[in-house]
Amino acid sequence: MDSAPRSPVYGVLQNASMVDFPGRLAAVFFLTGCNFKCGFCHNAALMNRTGAAGLPWTEVEQICRKFRDNWVAGAVVTGGEPTLNPGVFHIVEKLREWGFAIKLDTNGSRPGVLEKLLPRVDYVAMDVKFAPADYSKRVGFADVAALTESIRLIREKAAAYEFRTTVIEAWHDADSMRAIGEWVRGAELHVLQAFVPRAELPDPACRAMPETRAEILRACADLLRPYVARVEIRGEF
Ligand code: SF4
Repeated sequence: MDSAPRSPVYGVLQNASMVDFPGRLAAVFFLTGCNFKCGFCHNAALMNRTGAAGLPWTEVEQICRKFRDNWVAGAVVTGGEPTLNPGVFHIVEKLREWGFAIKLDTNGSRPGVLEKLLPRVDYVAMDVKFAPADYSKRVGFADVAALTESIRLIREKAAAYEFRTTVIEAWHDADSMRAIGEWVRGAELHVLQAFVPRAELPDPACRAMPETRAEILRACADLLRPYVARVEIRGEF
């Protein structure tokens, strides 16, 4: 049996990403497990794999060295939900040691862990998926207070950050966008992105939904603008 020490990293994007870390070419590292049940999840293969064996540290180091040799200076730690994995601190520490600037993606459900990670990362992206009242119904997570606390922590303590919402036409209306705006009021940046249906989404209803139209994204951006310093539509045009 292979007894090499295992990292918490379950997978690494083969090529560096130009879109996952604003302003940086970045390697993307996936950790497993998630405490939300989003029917529209694009990483559903990672949702139910809590505790799955990660790549050996030697392999992760080798991959990182290759990225660094190719001028990749950013690293994105994503999931799943990375704050669920106790190994998240170890990989963040290693990535820092190997010279990467680090971005953390989070669903905001674990403010206690997030608070400890904030001083160790350079950028945080938190999904604010729905209005507070819709969370339980849409993603099966009801602890809105935890999400509110994460929003506060990020606004006050993150070196740089964004909140982001994937707009689903059937599920986001003007009232829910205003409620999201109220929730993140005073934020520096809120990013909107289009929902894109895919055959492998967990919820069959989501697979049949249309891609979000550009004019809907623009209307949602207009609704958010009074609440935050800057709204960006990502992927546009
Ligand atoms: S929070 Fe993210 S990783 Fe978790 S189920 Fe939702 S979309 Fe997927």
